[in-house]
Amino acid sequence: MERLRAFLDKRRQESGLRKLFPVEKLGHGRLRPQDNSLPELLDFSSNDYLALSEHPRVLAASRAALERLGASSGASRLMSGNLAIHQELEQQVARLKGQEAALLFGSGYLANTGVIPALVGRGDVVFSDRLNHASIHDGCRLSGARTLRFRHNDPNHLEDLLRRHRGGFRRSLVVVESIYSMDGDRCPLAEIVGLKEKHDSLLLVDEAHATGVFGPNGGGVIEEEGLSARVDLSMGTFGKALGSYGAYLAASRLLVDYLVNCGRSFIYSTALPPAVVGACLGALEVVATEPERRAELLKNSGLFRRFLQEEGIAPLPGNSQIVPVLVGEAGLALALSRHLLEHGVFTAAVRPPTVPAGTARLRFSVTCHLDPTNLQTAAHLLAQGLANNPA
Ligand SMILES: *Cc1c(COP(=O)(O)O)cnc(C)c1O
Repeated sequence: MERLRAFLDKRRQESGLRKLFPVEKLGHGRLRPQDNSLPELLDFSSNDYLALSEHPRVLAASRAALERLGASSGASRLMSGNLAIHQELEQQVARLKGQEAALLFGSGYLANTGVIPALVGRGDVVFSDRLNHASIHDGCRLSGARTLRFRHNDPNHLEDLLRRHRGGFRRSLVVVESIYSMDGDRCPLAEIVGLKEKHDSLLLVDEAHATGVFGPNGGGVIEEEGLSARVDLSMGTFGKALGSYGAYLAASRLLVDYLVNCGRSFIYSTALPPAVVGACLGALEVVATEPERRAELLKNSGLFRRFLQEEGIAPLPGNSQIVPVLVGEAGLALALSRHLLEHGVFTAAVRPPTVPAGTARLRFSVTCHLDPTNLQTAAHLLAQGLANNPA
């Protein structure tokens, strides 16, 4: 127990202690903190990018499924938990992603930690972008495959590693995110696809932050760049732009049939409950019928970047709805997020170990809940905070 206390004390000293922050959701991107010395907050930390978590069609579809089918699916998919709405959602996802088939998982974390170990194991190799999400790292570790990390978004480094090491292993898997969760930038997907083809590897693309947001039909960056036929597997979550919970993997029928047999986080876990599957189906309908939502989201994200620049702040480059501002030290990130909090803006101070040491940042996510005035307010408050806390 002493060891645990010492660990937490050290985290606190390094401004790295993680603490839960209780809030009440008031809707429309507003939060009421339990700590009533704080004002009502504009939520700049939510991944509910398209505001679908409150969309009437999503709520109605969820409610209908709940009333018709009950609160639980009652079992895993391979037992009696495999409902018609699970199949329907998988068909919709496969269509959206331009793949033959899709498979649902309990969450994105479960998808990555289930899919990667099913595809590769001892004697195999994974080439993984250094900034890939923790669930990808954990999937790689769990697989027992040799994992080689290439420099973030650096196809030259990937190529170098493939040339030197691919030959020494049986199977090879390349894993990237299409939009990076902490940097908000986009991977050079066409180049990555070219390399994986040249070096006989499978490619898994994590579209957690792209699904519903990018692409003419909201299918993600893969769709936008016309690469569906050349990407072996893509995954994404229903917990971000799609406004509810759960995740999917989209691939060929063969790969999906294989994962039904070998994806342990799929096999040994209860199927998603009807209310969640209903919400996901409703969300896909909205994505299909209201393309103006993603257009507005990306327009407002560009606007927010401009407001920051007008305040003399340079966000990390990118064109996504994730707008990080690098501040360096964890203590400064914490002081700035505190300043914003006290003035009505909730944003995440992302610190080591989530990001590399010295690269602590404020991560703003723009959502359809926030209007241009809200965006301008946040940019102005950040400028004020920076003036009060010179680095
Ligand atoms: C959020 C996220 C996940 C995990 O998805 P959940 O459904 O929240 O478990 C996986 N990969 C990336 C890149 C993410 O940002």
